[in-house]
Amino acid sequence: MRDEARGVSTEERPRPQDAARPAEGARPPARRGGLAPTGGEDIMTPGHPQRHYTLICPVCHRRTADDGLVLTCGEDHPAAFLRTGYQESRLTVCPDSDGLYRYRRWLPITRTLAGAGGTIVSRGERLGRALGLRDLWIAFNGYWPERGAHLRSATFKELEAYTVLGRLPDRPPILVIPSVGNTGAAFASVFAQTGGECVIIVPERGLHRLASETELPSAVRLVALTGGDYDDAIGLGERVSRLPGFQAVGGAWNVARRDGLATVLLSAAETMGRLPEFYVQAVGSAVGAIAVHEAAGRLIASGEYGQARPRLLMCQNASYAPVRDLWRFGSVGRGHAARDVYADELTNRNPPYFVRGGIRDALAESGGRVLVADHASARAAAELFLETEGIDIEPAASVALACLREAVAGGEVSSGASVLLNITGGGRAHPARARLLRRVEPTLRLGREELGSPETPGRIGALFPSADGVVRAARV
Ligand SMILES: [Zn+2]
Repeated sequence: MRDEARGVSTEERPRPQDAARPAEGARPPARRGGLAPTGGEDIMTPGHPQRHYTLICPVCHRRTADDGLVLTCGEDHPAAFLRTGYQESRLTVCPDSDGLYRYRRWLPITRTLAGAGGTIVSRGERLGRALGLRDLWIAFNGYWPERGAHLRSATFKELEAYTVLGRLPDRPPILVIPSVGNTGAAFASVFAQTGGECVIIVPERGLHRLASETELPSAVRLVALTGGDYDDAIGLGERVSRLPGFQAVGGAWNVARRDGLATVLLSAAETMGRLPEFYVQAVGSAVGAIAVHEAAGRLIASGEYGQARPRLLMCQNASYAPVRDLWRFGSVGRGHAARDVYADELTNRNPPYFVRGGIRDALAESGGRVLVADHASARAAAELFLETEGIDIEPAASVALACLREAVAGGEVSSGASVLLNITGGGRAHPARARLLRRVEPTLRLGREELGSPETPGRIGALFPSADGVVRAARV
């Protein structure tokens, strides 16, 4: 463990008593549309298109067909993330598909969207020299058309949105998406192209992230919480998703979100031809880091990428670091000020830590660590990236770079190590993008005092004419 005053601290392993704690925080979402067990055989659900994968429970090993919505196993055992089992055991690239859909054989989707973006992986030679790393690779997620990066919402959340959309059944429910802004922007951008219905719930101070080149499409409703934070958005989202006709997008429970984010590592594997020794990413819910860990296991199982999974370096704000607290103490400390942070997208107080296949497992299995960075080092990291690579990066990505910089300086990452740095968002200020953006207005604004009202979920439900009636009658 290093001195936090220097901007970075690490902790290697959880204390033994943590193992007995029950899953908490990211509770399994309300189950809807669960599938009948198939007794270990792969069968398709009647009425659903043939899919090239099944869902596998890592606890009871049951395989089920996917209807595009199922989030949990449903058996009475400790909570666990379902995983996808694909027909193809090797990484097969589909060069004619756009963006992340190059890897569609390892995506739980039945449809693709033309013009989708993806991750751009390249050597970070100038940045590497500045950090003292000889084998640094950058996974850039954002808007940087000169480099082939076309994620219009400027963050890797768009990878999730493209995959969730591709997984949905033909007549999907209305998806409920709590967000600090980036996930909401990604879903708004992707759903605008398809007409899919969703409700995005964001704290008001995250609204600027939804600035778009176009008006919000009518199928997308935006609810802004005046004075509320990310945890408030998650709590309200849970209640809205219990309304008839609505469903939570499901956070890390949704295999589409994880496998969509896993394409970061698939892009790296394709470009590098091997797996990196270290994988560095800023985390809030840590869905991306968990996804990369799962993808590494899949690549290793293919027999073509060695035996070692990348060590996960998960990065958070020094002033509020729930994942670091969980890793070190088994619980999130009280008295932290979630608002006094450099990157507010990293402030989920209840990340999926104890769940089987969650953060604790990914850190332990990969020999990972949790690092933190303070405001000054994150700001300096953003400047360094702009100087060396030539583009603006998001606050979360700046936190990750700051943590990597300190880890190299402190000798925790050696100068010869191969490192993949996930720039989870960048190019928001790119002139070709920024000059077209206009502010979006929320469909509904809610004051903090309205959050707990039993009427509030129904008011949100009533924003959708298609769900009106059933929703008006419901109280959650
Ligand atoms: Zn199970």
